[in-house]
Amino acid sequence: MSSRIGRHFLHIPGPSPVPERVMRAMNMPVIDHRGPDFKKLGEEVLEGCKAVFQTDGPVVIYPSSGTGAWEATIANTLNAGDKVLMFETGQFATLWRQMAARWGVEVEFVSTDWRRGADPAIVEAKLSEDRSKAIRAVMVVHNETSTGVTSRIAEIRKAIDRAGHPALFLVDSISGLGSADLRHDEWGIDVTVSCSQKGLMLPPGLGFTAVSEKALAASRSNTLPRSYWDWAEMLKPNANGFFPYTPATTLLYGLREAIAMLREEGLPQVFARHQRLAAATRAAAQGWGLEVLCQEPTEYSPVLTALMMPDGTGADVFRKVVLDRFDMSLGAGLGKLTDKVFRIGHLGETNDLTLMGALSGVEMGLHAAHIPHQRGGVLAAMTSLRSALDD
Ligand SMILES: *Cc1c(COP(=O)(O)O)cnc(C)c1O
Repeated sequence: MSSRIGRHFLHIPGPSPVPERVMRAMNMPVIDHRGPDFKKLGEEVLEGCKAVFQTDGPVVIYPSSGTGAWEATIANTLNAGDKVLMFETGQFATLWRQMAARWGVEVEFVSTDWRRGADPAIVEAKLSEDRSKAIRAVMVVHNETSTGVTSRIAEIRKAIDRAGHPALFLVDSISGLGSADLRHDEWGIDVTVSCSQKGLMLPPGLGFTAVSEKALAASRSNTLPRSYWDWAEMLKPNANGFFPYTPATTLLYGLREAIAMLREEGLPQVFARHQRLAAATRAAAQGWGLEVLCQEPTEYSPVLTALMMPDGTGADVFRKVVLDRFDMSLGAGLGKLTDKVFRIGHLGETNDLTLMGALSGVEMGLHAAHIPHQRGGVLAAMTSLRSALDD
């Protein structure tokens, strides 16, 4: 093993690098989670989350991974035997579907080639055909982390409205929130699911559900069993800043700091930065002659970019060379994309120069691993970033 100096380049699309500021904010003694100091922290983070989710309604915070918040969403809103409409946008949509099926939910799963998002026109057509209004929910992954494709959530909302359908709208923005624009209230989302270790720039360990009034009403009458995940159990003590069981106190200190950082930069500026970094990454891909997996320019992810390997070359060997030589982690291909793509995360604590460092590592890695490519991707990315500065 070679000795390592300097920081590790963590360029997977979550967990994302944790800012120094957040690390320092978490360096605190553990406190009594039923005491007055906690109450202040609890109230601050529960209120602060609303700005990030762009909602006036409650955001429930669980000590869990994103997968836990997926389960909370299903357990609180659906019934066994309910029909739901989902889209096979990639590996994460596939896993959420599998979970829903295990709860006895009947999923109509619209397939795609994993190179585009959920199609609003198909949503409208499927809901319009559903004259008996049997479809209980439309469930969509906002930013499909396995492919680098973002579904058009606002347009899907409009499609649901055009069909005049009462279905709940449940959105996984686990890797979108804090990086890609997501307006829980304005876009009429009923549950937005998220977690701590992606755009929120925290370590893993917190799951979130932002909940609309309609979703809350659904939770009062639905019949799936739940206890740990029950919104009603959470919302009662949350009203005073407290939790029904021991919360992840240390992570909540970090969450308070991360929310402050997002507020200081400004959400529009945060989203614009991610767009700029994503555009530069695609410019690099074009320079290298590598194909971007996403086929729909309006659906390019601001969070990550998945690039296809040239025929006959494996992504995992390439990623190993990059890790060994340059101490940089790139995202692996997941599910049916295993070894076929690699993913560059450009989310959270990433700026122009950290991205340039990462792209340099990719270009040098392509050379070191003898992957057929053209030089000049890094230069193309720099040109892209420079022209963004001139705007
Ligand atoms: C990361 C991720 C998940 C899973 O979150 P965990 O914290 O690993 O449970 C689900 N959906 C999407 C879109 C993700 O990016």
